Amino acid sequence: MPRPLYTGEGMRDSLKKERLRALPSVDAVMRSPEAGRAAGRYGRAVLTGAVRRVLEARRRDILEGAGEGKVSVEDVVGEAERDLARRGLRRVINATGVVLHTNLGRSVLSRRAAEAAYVAATGYSNLEYDLGRGKRGSRYDHAVSLLTDLTGAEDALVVNNCAGAALLALTAVARGGEVIVSRGQLVEIGGGFRIPEVLALSGAKLREVGTTNRTRLSDYEAALGEETRAILWVHQSNFETVGFTESVWIDELASLGFPVIADVGSGALLPIADEPLVQRAVRDGAAIVTFSGDKLLGGPQAGIAVGSSQIVSSMRSHPLTRALRADKMCLAALSETLRAYLEGSARDELPALRMLAAAPGEVEERARALASRIEKKLPEVRVGVVPSVARSGGGTLPTHEVPSFAVRIEAHDPEGLAGRLRRFEPPVIGRVQDDALLLDLRTILPGEEEEVCSALAEACRGV
Ligand SMILES: *Cc1c(COP(=O)(O)O)cnc(C)c1O
Repeated sequence: MPRPLYTGEGMRDSLKKERLRALPSVDAVMRSPEAGRAAGRYGRAVLTGAVRRVLEARRRDILEGAGEGKVSVEDVVGEAERDLARRGLRRVINATGVVLHTNLGRSVLSRRAAEAAYVAATGYSNLEYDLGRGKRGSRYDHAVSLLTDLTGAEDALVVNNCAGAALLALTAVARGGEVIVSRGQLVEIGGGFRIPEVLALSGAKLREVGTTNRTRLSDYEAALGEETRAILWVHQSNFETVGFTESVWIDELASLGFPVIADVGSGALLPIADEPLVQRAVRDGAAIVTFSGDKLLGGPQAGIAVGSSQIVSSMRSHPLTRALRADKMCLAALSETLRAYLEGSARDELPALRMLAAAPGEVEERARALASRIEKKLPEVRVGVVPSVARSGGGTLPTHEVPSFAVRIEAHDPEGLAGRLRRFEPPVIGRVQDDALLLDLRTILPGEEEEVCSALAEACRGV
């Protein structure tokens, strides 16, 4: 069939081509006086690299249909300079409504925890020093009694993240032997953490039992044998099986007489929806329970293993532990986070828990206040407040919807608006839904409203 000369697609393609051709070349940019000035500061080679990255990004934008207007040499140099000044990790404003957003750094630390990290960072500490004996001590001792008091376990070990804690537990307990796992728990957590692969890495052999939706105690029993070293129980975390399902909880697995390694992941120490509580897994007989520090626990990135003193001490002395060790800032922040639980103030003090528990009415009030602030500052912008759905995120509570409220900004190109907000300093990360941009107040921290307004003012200028 002959193709019509000008389809809508073709028109867009020709516009894209025109815009691509209008982009200045790296050479043209580098010959400009602006580039000469900037090169004096950063050096020619560094600036050329930055200019090249800016032009590549602009080219990508155009190909995706998002590029706007003409791009001048000054624009490119300006953007390259800004990029060079902002390299590295940056604070962003999370307006997505996803509280433990893995891409945005998961949990926000409490003030106390952040101050403890600051103190540890800006001075010396007893990180590996025994103050009583005046001799070398162990970094692994600091959080132990906080963790055992909180969870009821005999011993505890803190490493870099939960993936590391699970790998270490499996390696220390089961290397060379078999680990029994339900087929319903051979999960992928995200970021490349897949149970079968972690098991392979640990040097243990995976023995799958049951089916995706149903695994019974008798399935585990039938698989026990000479080679068995442990039973692994994994919280599904980021998905749920519903319908015709059956699974075996830790207490029954523990009755089979082999160590149960329970990877609960989210690290809930206080009841929230149906998340497995760490204390309950310990009480019900898990030999080792592993969980994250920066999910529902609300602390820094860390992997925590609590459980029997025999297994924890074999983990502690395993060579792999050295490669997974947590740093002093993490240990300081984690200790302070755990202290909030022991003192009964975790729900009030930890931002992650507070954000998840904030009453919808309170979030709505903040949304209304922000909307009217935006209206005053930018009368030309069409803004309103709408109910929205916030989430826990971070691979926890996948189906748990938290009623929330968002500021809704109408735009003819909401994706473009979202992109401009991301380029602000600090970047504001919103959500595009139904041809509008939503800024969810559940995750915008108190005090960030003015910056959101300024970002919008900048993003809406001339649009
Ligand atoms: C999130 C999760 C992990 C990985 O935790 P990290 O701290 O991100 O390494 C491992 N196992 C389970 C069950 C999880 O939910």
